[in-house]
Amino acid sequence: MEIRFEQLSRTWPDGTRALDGIELTIAAGTFCVLLGHSGAGKSTLLRCVNGLESPTAGAVLVNGLRVDRRSLPLLRKRIAMVHQHFGLVARGSGAANVMAGAVSALPLWRVLTGLYPEPLKRKACALMEAVGLEEAHLRRRAEQLSGGQQQRLGLARAFMLDPAIILADEPVASLDPGTGREAMALLRRQARERGATVLCSLHQLDLARAFADRIVALHRGRVIFDGRPEALRERD
Ligand code: ADP
Ligand code: ADP
Repeated sequence: MEIRFEQLSRTWPDGTRALDGIELTIAAGTFCVLLGHSGAGKSTLLRCVNGLESPTAGAVLVNGLRVDRRSLPLLRKRIAMVHQHFGLVARGSGAANVMAGAVSALPLWRVLTGLYPEPLKRKACALMEAVGLEEAHLRRRAEQLSGGQQQRLGLARAFMLDPAIILADEPVASLDPGTGREAMALLRRQARERGATVLCSLHQLDLARAFADRIVALHRGRVIFDGRPEALRERD
């Protein structure tokens, strides 16, 4: 799905402008990296897409549909989020954490009884394999896994419902460089193989250059660069 930011601004009560007139259109199937230092506005921009924050001016449109209270219940079914600190249920098994990615699409009785439909179980198994998790990991509690394994769980959970949009907020910030690259490769595959629109915030220039189709650099809530990774190399 296409994401469009129309003169999007977010001002905090203390006067800070987290976002200041963002004007961008991200085409479906793009792996777009939001690059910027801490406080640049990356997280706020991502959170405006799934309604965790709301704009003080302007709008976000998904396939032309304005993100607001009315459209959000439907849109949220197509949007997944990946977090820096993984956001797993620490004492839950790896498998339970991955299945949690499908909960919003299931009737309550299935969630409560743990009787998941077979196709979803097969999907979870396929995803766990795709992200490189083994059966032993999935039986263990999430808190007993390494950071890299926990982020793989977080990714598998996010991919459960084939989201059209994936919002990844500093998904590699808690990982070592090698593991971070693997996580980036898994996110890029969602764009390449399924046509998901992936918006991923990062502060590492090298990772952005290596993986992004498009880099949008933010500074103090404004876009200071927008283009292909090669173009960034020439300018800086
Ligand atoms: P980034 O993700 O690039 O680190 P953020 O979007 O988290 O940036 O923050 C952008 C700016 O907005 C920062 O100055 C931050 O301190 C401020 N900010 C973020 N959330 C809030 C909030 N809930 N209330 C007030 N200021 C906030
Ligand atoms: P992260 O490191 O995961 O980006 P932050 O420490 O930036 O998290 O922010 C954590 C929470 O605090 C967020 O919900 C953000 O909106 C809020 N926040 C960030 N900066 C401020 C601020 N200056 N004033 C009030 N709330 C803030």
